[in-house]
Amino acid sequence: MRRQKSFENEMPTCYVVATPIGNLEEMTPRAIEVLRSVDVIACEDTRHTQKLLRHFQIENKVISHHDHNERDSAKGILMLLHQGFNVALVSDAGYPLISDPGYILVETITQHGFNVVPINGSSALLAALVASGLVTQPFYFHGFLPSNLKEARGVLTRIRHYEATMIFYEAPHRIEKTLKLALEVMGDRKASLARELTKKHEEFIRGTLSELVIEAKDLKGEMVLVIEGTKEEKEPDISMMDIRHHIDELIQSGLSAKDAIKQIASQTGYSKNEIYQIYHQDSHTNC
Ligand code: SAM
Repeated sequence: MRRQKSFENEMPTCYVVATPIGNLEEMTPRAIEVLRSVDVIACEDTRHTQKLLRHFQIENKVISHHDHNERDSAKGILMLLHQGFNVALVSDAGYPLISDPGYILVETITQHGFNVVPINGSSALLAALVASGLVTQPFYFHGFLPSNLKEARGVLTRIRHYEATMIFYEAPHRIEKTLKLALEVMGDRKASLARELTKKHEEFIRGTLSELVIEAKDLKGEMVLVIEGTKEEKEPDISMMDIRHHIDELIQSGLSAKDAIKQIASQTGYSKNEIYQIYHQDSHTNC
């Protein structure tokens, strides 16, 4: 166990600095001050961050810290902290670590007892949630769904019984497919698509998943999808583990896999397709 009194010790610090997700006026004075005062700024894309720094007349050294070099870069940054330097971490937009690099670095630094201090700012997921018109608590943030359709279906199948409002990041070229898949797996629910948040063409499309599917064609820009949690009174009281176990038992007792899946579907209220996904997706990895 470790306790960090952020401003009551002399340890070097890594500041995790949120930057604007579009509108530069969302850059906070505190973020500017920290980026000026640290010894070095670690960033995803040095050219992108240089532009931001130039805009705010911040002259400082930048080093690259992205998905492909995160482990090595984390070691380098740790050495800087050991030498007594303060570091800031930024990503291209919003909070580092939120669907962006930084987790390995923060984990490493905290394990070595240095300070990690968050500097707040814009957040696409929170902006999309609070303006969605959907229940804001509890909420579940997923980030990006897997690009593989089968894996994405598996994720949605697993979370479709969550009561929490669900938040997903999505790319414009995939949004239509994702909405169709969510509609198929979760049924028609309320949803909200937030596009180009804080920018000139900011837009919210609020409605049901089936309505959003129709609107999603040819949408451009950055987007966040918010989907209402389940309204079902009661979740099926059978876990996925149970489902796989029951199917295995039925198969051992002589039923074909197809008939076993059909039987479990009728017992649980899941669709045959969902049971099929649960069984084939996870049975051989988790059991
Ligand atoms: N670190 C960022 C954050 O804190 O939100 C997220 C980075 S992630 C690589 C980029 C995704 O965030 C986009 O594909 C989109 O889903 C969402 N996003 C970022 N900025 C956005 C904006 N201005 N409007 C809508 N969605 C945005």
